[in-house]
Amino acid sequence: MEKVLIVDDSLVQGAQLKSILDDEYEVTTVQTAADGLTQASTGDYSLILLDVVMPDMDGFMLLKKLQEELITQHIPVILITSLAAIEHEQRGLTLGAVDYITKPFHPLIVKARVHTHVKLYQYRKQIENQSMTDQLTGVSNRRHHDRYSATKWQEAIRLRIPISICMFDIDKFKVYNDTFGHPAGDKVIAGVASTAASYLRRGTDFFARYGGEEFVAILFGDDTDKAFEHLKTIRRAVEELHIPHNPQVSPWVTISIGGVTVIPKADSSYDTYLKIADAMLYDAKRFGRNQVVWADEAMRQHREK
Ligand code: GH3
Ligand code: MG
Ligand code: MG
Repeated sequence: MEKVLIVDDSLVQGAQLKSILDDEYEVTTVQTAADGLTQASTGDYSLILLDVVMPDMDGFMLLKKLQEELITQHIPVILITSLAAIEHEQRGLTLGAVDYITKPFHPLIVKARVHTHVKLYQYRKQIENQSMTDQLTGVSNRRHHDRYSATKWQEAIRLRIPISICMFDIDKFKVYNDTFGHPAGDKVIAGVASTAASYLRRGTDFFARYGGEEFVAILFGDDTDKAFEHLKTIRRAVEELHIPHNPQVSPWVTISIGGVTVIPKADSSYDTYLKIADAMLYDAKRFGRNQVVWADEAMRQHREK
């Protein structure tokens, strides 16, 4: 069930709106704009019904705050008020409300408008998800990586916690394609992606297909030893899938991984460290493939083999 938030200082009106929407949505009601802001930033709401006239912070003010916050600005807001004056409606719509309902309202009209905007919101979310997902593997794509890494890098700087950047690349994959064909190669890419993803923590770790047979993982909070161990486990897990490779190259499909762990400084850039991870990957290939090579916080290199 999609979640709807009602912000209305009148208990009676809040309850009335809730009863109109209760059968189709999971409805939460709050009586102040401050509570509305807290709820909106913590819950996963698909729509907010917002009363304009409230003591302390009014609906216009709350709407403005919601629009300013990254985590709430995408939630559609419908204003509800008895202020029928045209300038109020105009102000609300200019501030970013998607619709405006004036009191007294008809339950069916409220229902229909809520329905329309929740549908539009779902549709937009679906398109956004698709544009962030790699079709073949179902993991995040390069575009998502670029956005995610920029935000997470800033967060790691602010919180002063270590971040690990790892690049994966399937070994001798051109030979695989030449031997077994491109469609079989696609299946290997998908298999490697789902195996690696299954070893990463949902929520805190990030994993994306960076290019053809290359992936990037970003781990948050682990020191070098922990990240290095973790990535070795992932490398072994792929080897232990025992996907036959061209025997002249290797018995099984394997991956090489390069990584770096760093506590980012304010003036440092993510791209610098992505390049270091890539240089470690290059060394992993050079040292014989099917292994993890890591750069620690002091830029000392650790080799698995
Ligand atoms: P190395 O061990 O040095 O990484 O050797 P490699 O052959 O894997 O490296 P290279 O980068 O030369 O080749 C990568 C190959 O990956 C070439 C390309 O045909 C294949 N590839 C890239 N994207 C896809 C894809 O989406 N599907 C399939 N099946 N193959 C792909
Ligand atoms: Mg490659
Ligand atoms: Mg390769």
